[in-house]
Order: sequence, then C-alpha cells, then structure tokens
Amino acid sequence: MSLASRLKARIAQTGPMSVSDYMAECLLHPEHGYYTTRDPLGAAGDFTTAPEISQMFGELIGLALAQAWLDQGAPAPFTLAELGPGRGTLMADILRAAGAVPGFGAAARVHLVEASPSLRQQQAARLADITVTHVADVGDLPQAPLFLVANEFFDALPIRQFVRDGAVWRERLVGLDGARLGFGLGPPQALPELAHRSDVGDGGVVELCPAAAPIMAEIAGRIAGHGGAALVIDYGDWRSLGDTLQAVRRHQPEDPLANPGEADLTAHVDFEALAQAAPGLVCSRLTPQGVFLERLGITPRAQKLAAGLTGAALETHIAAHRRLTHPDEMGTLFKVLAFVGQGVPMLPGLDR
Ligand code: SAH
Repeated sequence: MSLASRLKARIAQTGPMSVSDYMAECLLHPEHGYYTTRDPLGAAGDFTTAPEISQMFGELIGLALAQAWLDQGAPAPFTLAELGPGRGTLMADILRAAGAVPGFGAAARVHLVEASPSLRQQQAARLADITVTHVADVGDLPQAPLFLVANEFFDALPIRQFVRDGAVWRERLVGLDGARLGFGLGPPQALPELAHRSDVGDGGVVELCPAAAPIMAEIAGRIAGHGGAALVIDYGDWRSLGDTLQAVRRHQPEDPLANPGEADLTAHVDFEALAQAAPGLVCSRLTPQGVFLERLGITPRAQKLAAGLTGAALETHIAAHRRLTHPDEMGTLFKVLAFVGQGVPMLPGLDR
C-alpha cells in the first residue's frame, strides 16, 4: 500500500493529523519515508545543497571550526559532529581543509547524527578512510568538547502550524477532502507559548518546531559544560512568520499534499527559537550565508581554484561561487547562526 493510501486510511479511522505528524510520516516512515528510502540530493535527485554545489563551502566551514578549536585551546580529544550529513560531502570537505591545522584531525572523534539507513551507508562510504560513529539522536553524543555543524538539518524537522483566530489559535490539520488529502483547521485553543506573537494578525500562520528546542538544548549542554561551538546554516529568519511548508520534487516546487513520501518537505527555520533554547550560550548575529562566506575568503579561494580550470569546469565553478553567495541565489535566503560558550571568541566571519 502506498503512503498516500495509508495516510488516508489512518485519517478516515482516527481523524485529521497535525502537519508535524504528516511531515514525520512523509520524511521518515520506515518503508515509505522520503529520507529512509532514497538519496534525494544532487542533479539526478530532488534538490541540491551548498556542500554539493562546491567544495569551497565545506572547506571554509572546516577552517572556521578549526579556528574556533584553536581559540579554545585545541582540546583533545573532541567531538566533531554533523546533524543530517546527507551524502557526507560537507564532513569530507571539513576534514580535508581542517586537516591542515596541526592536531585537529588526530583529536577529532567524528559523530554523524543521521536517521536514514540509506544515507548512513552513503556517509560511511564517503568517509571510509576515517572512523565515524553514527548516532540517531544528539542525546547520544559524548559528554566532551563539541564542535558541530548542521546544514539544512533543522528545516527537515516536522513543524506544527497555527492560525490566529482572534484571541485563540486553530491548528492547521491534514484531513480528507473527498478522496484526496486536504488542509483544514482544528478547534480553537489558547496557546501560552504563542503569547508573544502579538505581531500576528487574524488569519496569520505561526509555525512551531517541537523537536528543535530539545535538540538545541542537548548541544548547548555539551558546549556550556565542555567547550565547543555550533554552526547552524539554513533558510529561515529570526522569527517564523507565515506558512513556509514547501515540497520540492525533481527540483520543482509542488503541493505538499500531492505526493506523500516522494517529495522533500521542509519549513523555514525559526532561529529565534534555537537561540532561546540555548540560554547558557552566546549566539552570533544571524548572518546571511553570502556575507559569512565572503568574510571567510570565498572569493580568493574561488580565484585560486579557478586558476586550475578551463572551459565547462571553469564556468561551473564560477556559477557555484555565485550560487552560494549572491543575494538572488542562496546568499541571502540562507542564514548562519553560531553558538559558543560564555567568554569565548565567536567563530570567524560572524559578530556577536
Ligand atoms: N546536510 C546535508 C543534507 C541535508 S538533507 C547537505 O547539506 O547536503 C537533510 C538531512 O537530515 C538528511 O541527511 C536526512 O536524512 C537528515 N535527517 C532528517 N531528519 C532527521 C532526523 N529527525 N534525525 C536525524 N537526521 C535527520
């Protein structure tokens, strides 16, 4: 039975489900989930990500993390962790670039937080020459200094959506519209956790990501207790506003209810909620990805790499630089937020 049929049968039996339950089933259902059953990345897949666009992305992030490690006295051993590592490309590029920093590679204990069995396999193959530990949950990361990166991870976590109705809220639910899946609204409810959203008028949508804060709190506990840094890169803004649930299949947007389990589903990240979950840490200013990469020196790096390229390879390389940094491409839509302990220098490329 297809995932669509299963979801319809479930709704017919037990009633409409939250957007977060719908997302969780579509992304991580053991048999039909989008991430559990396939490699969604790259030109042949459904979408592409910064590390897949150019090695420069991971190289600069590797050097930024290595600088933070040096700034904190080069603790050894330490956990080098990535959340949702996709094909393992970012971690491979981080290790190659940061490997030039004496002692970094030898001290790093690489941990990958990954839910998908098929992507775990790809990551192990890509990183075959080093020892990697896969864990399902950030709570399984060691109690040790933690230097962590998460690129396009938090956007894949299920969100709930609430629509303002006067003084109360109604949850947006996935139900049946005849024989098809359709959106509807649940009963009115008071939501104390949305009391601060006086900025949202009638009919306005607010998204909450219930899994994000506990994940951030686990990370923050390790960094506050043992040192380290966390670098979160994703699309979103300081405060969630509006319906940002989107489906992408074969590089094209589509209706999120059209093909459950066959399209990537994401929502914008509410960076304010991440910062609030890590009150013991210092967070950077939310910085556009293009600004961050330029400050880290992507242009000189791009020029150096360009010197060895000609023809189509050179054109692809120039396009990749533009794609990562230009405001009309990923440069402004994607944001960077970093966290460090109190009294510790911020990561290069970012201000407090
Ligand atoms: N960071 C990679 C891949 C982004 S796609 C890149 O930039 O290319 C999202 C990644 O998060 C995938 O590896 C997916 O399997 C993983 N993922 C999604 N939900 C997860 C969860 N709840 N726990 C762990 N990993 C998850």
